[in-house]
Amino acid sequence: MSKPVVAVVGRPNVGKSTLFNALAGSRISIVEDTPGVTRDRIYAEVSWLDYQFTLIDTGGIEPESDDIIISRMREQAETAIMTADVILFLVDVRQGLVDADFKVADMLRRSHRPVLLVVNKVDNFEKYMPDVYEFYNLGLGDPIPVSAQGKLGIGDMLDHVIEQFETPAREEEEEDERPKIAVIGKPNAGKSSIINKLLGEERVIVSPVAGTTRDAIDTTVKRNGQEYIFIDTAGLRRKSKIKEELERYSIIRTVTAVERCDVAVLIIDATEGITEQDAKIAGIAHERGKGMIIAVNKWDLVEKDNTTMKKFTEKIREKLSYMPYAELIFLSAKTGQRLPKLFDMIDAVIENCALRVQTGVLNEILTEAMAMKQPPSDKGKRLRIYYITQVSVKPPTFVMFINEKKLTHFSYTRYIENQIRTTFGFRGTPIHFIYRERK
Ligand code: GDP
Ligand code: GDP
Repeated sequence: MSKPVVAVVGRPNVGKSTLFNALAGSRISIVEDTPGVTRDRIYAEVSWLDYQFTLIDTGGIEPESDDIIISRMREQAETAIMTADVILFLVDVRQGLVDADFKVADMLRRSHRPVLLVVNKVDNFEKYMPDVYEFYNLGLGDPIPVSAQGKLGIGDMLDHVIEQFETPAREEEEEDERPKIAVIGKPNAGKSSIINKLLGEERVIVSPVAGTTRDAIDTTVKRNGQEYIFIDTAGLRRKSKIKEELERYSIIRTVTAVERCDVAVLIIDATEGITEQDAKIAGIAHERGKGMIIAVNKWDLVEKDNTTMKKFTEKIREKLSYMPYAELIFLSAKTGQRLPKLFDMIDAVIENCALRVQTGVLNEILTEAMAMKQPPSDKGKRLRIYYITQVSVKPPTFVMFINEKKLTHFSYTRYIENQIRTTFGFRGTPIHFIYRERK
């Protein structure tokens, strides 16, 4: 199930970074760190009570003049409107209301998205509350006072955020059972070309998905009686001339698209080979435990001999060594080479993400694996794995009951993973392991 997205919008210096850090402090831990993924402040995972959401910061570089501030805020607001389930509009009680706030408030109000007006720097509720009331003038409902720095009012604010998740519009969206495929990759890799070609080749019915709140570029594709939803991250292009802004925007689009998908197809440009930016984008899908296909596009432009594909494969596997499970395909949007195979691969990966293995068979594999290679030991004490069982899918997640957590070692976990993969494949999906001590 996809996590909601919450976006923070606000002028420079109102305290966006401070709020971000206060919230991201409670970030849920990720199963495995992704090497090569630089985690700047564009997004963070936040958990509150039983809820988890992705927080995105739409703000970028510091603008110098009022005109620039207003145009930058418009861009922020547009990004938030297109990508977020809930928008936090952050203002500063010390600076009070300024013209730019009214302009942005108008935009947000017209979008009909859930917006919470959060008034920051209310370090002392008694002293500043009269000033907080001034913000009613924005027409965005009750202002929520917080102090990001003093961590005051944050819990109340999060309660309001969570209330917004429970609106019926969102639940309807969740019920959609059709496979969702996010087509991700850097600009000009060929994302749009691939989607367009798929539409043409399969003689499909194309219709924008009605009622999608975030954007209108989801495309329904029908193939062999099965409907698929393609989420194109390229469709909406930002006009901003600022390189950092374009990159921020494209990362936000990728995170929100991947969040909603079952399988991500990463498009790599064969004429450029695999790059840092590709690895960064791949990391987003990996962190979220999504099915993964790497498609090397523009294969028609590559001069080939009988080792070319092998060399490409090695480079990609090396760069993305944290996701050996990813499927790999070489294709061309231009000639249509291997596009039908891409569809078959998507089907297979989606199936693998939802694959369940019976406990009996799993434990047979575990016993055999331990007989072939003993679990690690430390200071005379050996790791004992009593039992393994699969607890969930998407991604397939296994719990191993063991004697002591500190005896576990990632290389042995990787070994068990490989034994399971040898039998069941799970091609294209990450699989996760959780250790539980049983004394
Ligand atoms: P951003 O530009 O919106 O990301 O704003 P920052 O988070 O960088 O904050 C701008 C300034 O306001 C910094 O000097 C912060 O220390 C300060 N600030 C942020 N939150 C609070 C707060 O709750 N109370 C007070 N007094 N200062 C704050
Ligand atoms: P996007 O930004 O990822 O959506 O990339 P586009 O689909 O707009 O493609 C960028 C450019 O690459 C366009 O000029 C396409 O015509 C070209 N292109 C895309 N796929 C292929 C391909 O398989 N072969 C060739 N030769 N050109 C391609």
